[in-house]
Amino acid sequence: MIKGSKVLKGIEIMDIQAILAGLHDCPCGKDHPCDIRYVELGKDVLLRLDEICRPFSRILLVSDGNTYPLCGDKTKKILGDKVVSEMQFGKETVVPNEDAIARIEGQMVDGTDFIIGIGSGVINDLCKHVSFAHGIRYAIIATAPSMDGYASVGAALILEEMKVTLNARVPYAILAEDDVVCTAPVDMLQSGYGDIVGKYSCLNDWKLAHLLRNEYFCDFVYNYVINTVKNTEATAKAVLVREPAAIRNLMEGLVSVGIMMSYVGNSRPASGSEHHLSHFFEITGLLNHMPYYLHGIDVLYSAAVTAQLREKLQTVKKPLVSAIPNEATRQEQIKRIYSSASDGILALQKKVGFYDELNIQALDERWDEICEVLSRAPTYKAMLGYLDAIGLNIHEFDAFYGKETIRDALLYAKDLKDRYTVLWLGFALGIDCFEA
Ligand SMILES: [Zn+2]
Ligand SMILES: [Zn+2]
Repeated sequence: MIKGSKVLKGIEIMDIQAILAGLHDCPCGKDHPCDIRYVELGKDVLLRLDEICRPFSRILLVSDGNTYPLCGDKTKKILGDKVVSEMQFGKETVVPNEDAIARIEGQMVDGTDFIIGIGSGVINDLCKHVSFAHGIRYAIIATAPSMDGYASVGAALILEEMKVTLNARVPYAILAEDDVVCTAPVDMLQSGYGDIVGKYSCLNDWKLAHLLRNEYFCDFVYNYVINTVKNTEATAKAVLVREPAAIRNLMEGLVSVGIMMSYVGNSRPASGSEHHLSHFFEITGLLNHMPYYLHGIDVLYSAAVTAQLREKLQTVKKPLVSAIPNEATRQEQIKRIYSSASDGILALQKKVGFYDELNIQALDERWDEICEVLSRAPTYKAMLGYLDAIGLNIHEFDAFYGKETIRDALLYAKDLKDRYTVLWLGFALGIDCFEA
């Protein structure tokens, strides 16, 4: 057994405190440092704030009308007069935009040397961004096991009405108290579960990119994330009834996957085609003022869609036939789908050059190897089983977005990112997942 590891459901996995120390001289050739000082998950962990905040003396506390009541008073009681200012948003959903950033900055006083956020995705992203922009550190007191961004480097914001991820720094400390996270709303629990189980899709994309583009790959990180998914996939029922052990396991999984992203230096181990589809629904939703699901719910549905795509691809027989539309048609489609955001997307793909690399003959030559990689991901049926276990149904997803939008996503979500995934294969071969 590795030092600092534990066995969960028969799978050996390194304890979160052990991975915090970083991993040096990894066989992949990289050093994997970790800049997060504390991860405290469990009962009464807020009491640890006293020690965690010892180096700091002027703290800004950020929360909203839903998260402050959960542990705002308790936090202030522990930290006493170190909390010198406060930004409390209202009860309505906070949008991580220019206005929210300015409101937090407006509460910074002379000598503010630390920020503490109480919340989940949005509060975390805002505190991550503002602290980084001002050269100080921050801690997040998590209120829901809803996504894996707590430990990540990037801050997901909506600037000029467009979703962007800005480079920032991981938090100094992540805390999650059982009594708080166990009260999270059910859709946030579904979202956290979905963000973990959806990793089956991105891990397969990583293997594919390693095979076809010789992209950097780390076995340790890959296996760590796979084991985290395996430790979570069977806990859906326990998560839904808020069993503290299952919620803590989910929270640990979300934080440790975030740490794996910082090990690698990008989000490859945690985000692939399924995340590109979920970003598509979010971005086109923002552009067209249409609703979209919570992040991890979109991710799990999208991971079922990409599982179906992988299965369809494995039925394609050689010789492969190109279905790549000409450049003018592609640009027309991008403009139709992304309207005001299309120029940036076209420019990105021009820079990345994946379209120039779409060579059907090269794919044909390696088709057996490609299918072997694709076959390692769970089947569409298995993904429907995970959806069902956590109380979600693919027919609701189909009705919510409509088949045309999902088809657009399958063909053109790939253009949002500079990352090779199975979506490029599906596009090159013209796979239609809605065809019987
Ligand atoms: Zn490595
Ligand atoms: Zn995610």
